[in-house]
Amino acid sequence: MSRTADLPAIAELARGAVADASVVCRHVQNQIDRVRSVTKDDRSPVTVADFASQAVVARRLSEADPDLALVGEESSDALRDSAALLNEVLAAVRLVWPEATTDDVLAAIDLAQHPGGVGSFWTLDPIDGTKGFLRNQQYAVSLARIEAGAPTLGVLGCPNLSPSFNADLDQPDPAGTIYLAALDAGLIEWSPANTTGNPRTVSRADHDPAGPLRLCESVEKAHSSHDASSRILDHLRRHADPARLDSQCKYAVVARGQADAYLRMPTKPGYIERIWDHAAGAIVATESGCIVTDILGAPLDFSRGRGLETNLGVVCAPPPLHTDLIAAIADLGLDRPPAAR
Ligand code: AMP
Ligand code: MG
Repeated sequence: MSRTADLPAIAELARGAVADASVVCRHVQNQIDRVRSVTKDDRSPVTVADFASQAVVARRLSEADPDLALVGEESSDALRDSAALLNEVLAAVRLVWPEATTDDVLAAIDLAQHPGGVGSFWTLDPIDGTKGFLRNQQYAVSLARIEAGAPTLGVLGCPNLSPSFNADLDQPDPAGTIYLAALDAGLIEWSPANTTGNPRTVSRADHDPAGPLRLCESVEKAHSSHDASSRILDHLRRHADPARLDSQCKYAVVARGQADAYLRMPTKPGYIERIWDHAAGAIVATESGCIVTDILGAPLDFSRGRGLETNLGVVCAPPPLHTDLIAAIADLGLDRPPAAR
């Protein structure tokens, strides 16, 4: 029997919402040149996809829960100033919500204004990895349920991530993958490209404790210090070239064993990681058997509002390697904000 038949309704709802948003994002990405020319007034085409994706997910969730609590990255402010942009967003939304009006779209986007905190809520990054989206490389639609400060459900839509480890991570896959993780229920992957269309269970294979370490890190060195990661690998005498890709696809790539660890080493003094940049990815990785903490080894605390206020950077790896990485970061004095180094 397919695992989907066992999915609780809330998980099926979240998966369906992310799948719809992924269709919309893929459509906008395929038309990126046309969208750009329509929105010359410094509105980037990603803005169209961000708004459309948020509207689609918020609407799906609110149909199931009229008292929806959703922390989303976007608000409708910029759309209210630009009829051209709003119409582009509406056209994208109508791919999966044909009867939507502009008022519906604005209202749906603004359903995502919850402040977060200690209670139960959803958090959404409608397009994580903006730079990857613009380069036609990796990006993710990221939706998670938070309860008492920790993710209990996460869905990562990775529209350009191939299910195959042989595929070039820099190349967009025609089908992509979706990951769903629920607390203590494991991680499952769907790829429309697999022959049956059924989900498969993903768990992290044992890590070779002696071989070269394949890290995952941001393409953008402004988001994660490439220099610090390189020093950590040298310190462990396990240097290998890192896999660089945008978005929370990094968590999925480590969860499925294609890379050994994801490091996010702080670059900017005072930068606070946003909850929507990590919630879904973190539970995807932990449900595969990885440990996810900040660079001091503290659990990520999602109860502090829109930011991970008490955390610094991220380390995601299978258990023995996670311990080694935290120790290496401390040994090198990298376990503090950049300004204090
Ligand atoms: P990535 O694709 O892993 O490079 O991460 C993309 C995310 O980085 C975006 O969603 C931003 O919210 C976030 N971001 C922006 N500035 C910084 C920064 N200085 N340090 C870490 N993350 C950042
Ligand atoms: Mg993001």
